[in-house]
Amino acid sequence: MAVVVPTTIGESLYWSYASMAMAWASLQHGEPTYQQIDYIVRSKTYYGLLRGRLKLGSFFNDEQEKIYAATSCVYCGSVDRLSLDHLIPRLRDGEDAADNLVTACRTCNSSKGARDVLDWLCRRKELPTLVVLRRYLKLVIRYCVRHDLMGVKLEDVGALNPPLPFMLALVPHQLPEPELLVARFDPDAPDHQDELFEERAAIREFDGGLSREDSETLAAEDDGTDRAD
Ligand SMILES: [Zn+2]
Repeated sequence: MAVVVPTTIGESLYWSYASMAMAWASLQHGEPTYQQIDYIVRSKTYYGLLRGRLKLGSFFNDEQEKIYAATSCVYCGSVDRLSLDHLIPRLRDGEDAADNLVTACRTCNSSKGARDVLDWLCRRKELPTLVVLRRYLKLVIRYCVRHDLMGVKLEDVGALNPPLPFMLALVPHQLPEPELLVARFDPDAPDHQDELFEERAAIREFDGGLSREDSETLAAEDDGTDRAD
């Protein structure tokens, strides 16, 4: 049993990524709460990434999702007035490349503007869907790896120059229980609007995902897998 309290940018982002992987895993069995197997996924993912035994997933799954949901806004599910949005805004070093581009309605696109997507959603008291969070985490981890920032202590983040192009403090370490998770908005789902409303209302009531004070007890160590999608 180990208690994880991230002390560096890398540990913090990998812990968030592992929690996101746990959330995806939980959707496989459909139970309303996290199961032991989900916690094992989180533990394997975290230690695997930290020790270099697990590589961050490519954008293959994310691009597949983009094709699957190309006719709806990735943020709200709207099918009207779609455009391409830079997930990491260009003003925040976001690249003009497919990895960083998502389908968004013009309303969300202009409302988000140059804000960090987590900041924008936080102001709306919403958490990102798992599809958005997975791509976002891959982008910010890639940025930190490229700029050799993964080992920076959390207490030194404020002194970085240039500052991080994303808001590390808003990257969730913990996600809602599976019954409250939203993987993606699907405009073709029956009664979509009702479901959307209920899901977002439920997410709105959840405020634990942005806490930085949680420490986690892990049930298992990693045994070496080679890809974290
Ligand atoms: Zn939208």
